Amino acid sequence: MKIILLGPPGAGKGTQAAMLMDKFSIPQISTGDMLRAAVRNQSPMGTKAKEFMDAGGLVPDEVVVGIVRERLQLDDCHNGFILDGFPRTVAQADALKEVLAELDQNLDCVVSLEVDTEALVERLTGRRSCSSCGRGFHVKYDPPAADGTCLACGGTLLQRDDDQEETIRNRMQVYHEQTAPLEDYYREQGLLQVVNGMQDMKAVQQSILTLLQGC
Ligand code: ADP
Ligand code: ADP
Ligand code: ZN
Repeated sequence: MKIILLGPPGAGKGTQAAMLMDKFSIPQISTGDMLRAAVRNQSPMGTKAKEFMDAGGLVPDEVVVGIVRERLQLDDCHNGFILDGFPRTVAQADALKEVLAELDQNLDCVVSLEVDTEALVERLTGRRSCSSCGRGFHVKYDPPAADGTCLACGGTLLQRDDDQEETIRNRMQVYHEQTAPLEDYYREQGLLQVVNGMQDMKAVQQSILTLLQGC
């Protein structure tokens, strides 16, 4: 199963990708997670990417495409993958097409999660993630342990620097200008499936699983 999860910041891409990864035993390829790892490791690429991420802008296409190209060549992607947060521009989508053609692979489906702007802001401001195991939480919709630690491993929870209201506004604008056009891009290719992302997490998952049966 080769899937792209499309949707604005906070739509639930990471949450759904983690569930699909367990269900199908295929890797979740999150460019956001990979870029944050590069920032933590203070690699030259990470240091450069951080400026764009802190401002809520996009990291340049050639950097992100390079990361994804390397990742898709690894053996664990042969049976499928879930792209989460990539592509985010038409240029990235065109580059992905080329990379997949080189690997003799095809996309099965592009799942677009639709969520109202107000709900997105609430999801992003309440988002937390475990500093040890990476599991995501939401203070209201997927709360951590009573003492504020990770339910899975007891780790400390963090809030992302870019999940602040001012940066969130920039990210939303960037999404509308640069990423939203990908809906038409994939609709024209007959790959787009739209899911109501306003449902609770389990219902969204069920909707995705149902539509994947037809892909
Ligand atoms: P994205 O990867 O699209 O930015 P996430 O999966 O990180 O989004 O979700 C953003 C926040 O919203 C997280 O705190 C997550 O726990 C929460 N969340 C995800 N899906 C839902 C949902 N269907 N209903 C309510 N909250 C959700
Ligand atoms: P969210 O789904 O909440 O928007 P991500 O974790 O996917 O967040 O991305 C966080 C930041 O990392 C983005 O705001 C952007 O700066 C950078 N980033 C992630 N993926 C890409 C991409 N495909 N192209 C360019 N920048 C990216
Ligand atoms: Zn944890």
